[in-house]
Amino acid sequence: MCNCKACETELKPSYSYCINCGYPACQSKSTEYIGNAFSSYNMTAVLFGCLLGAFVGFLARPSVMLVGQLPLDVVLTRGAMLTGLGRLLIPAARQSFNIMLSCSILGAVGGCVLSKVLVQKHASKP
Ligand SMILES: [Zn+2]
Repeated sequence: MCNCKACETELKPSYSYCINCGYPACQSKSTEYIGNAFSSYNMTAVLFGCLLGAFVGFLARPSVMLVGQLPLDVVLTRGAMLTGLGRLLIPAARQSFNIMLSCSILGAVGGCVLSKVLVQKHASKP
């Protein structure tokens, strides 16, 4: 049970609008709650998805002939600190970096979508 904010009429929680004056009823409170739940869910899910995506992207990076997969520091700096013959690895480092970046963005988007689905499920519970 809750009361209309405008005219204090007692309303059932299922009512979206006050039966007396038409003012948006209890729903406005629950929308606020969903909003709060969504933002905290959202932030965590996006961050988690981003990290997970970056991790998967790092694991999925292409390996270079004779060298194998590049270490994380080389990938993150896009080969900037490579010297001498190591500079031949710069394109591979950039490619690995781009893959990692794409995966982290995909992960963030995936996390965002997932959090929306979770919040909707959560919110649809009575
Ligand atoms: Zn009212």
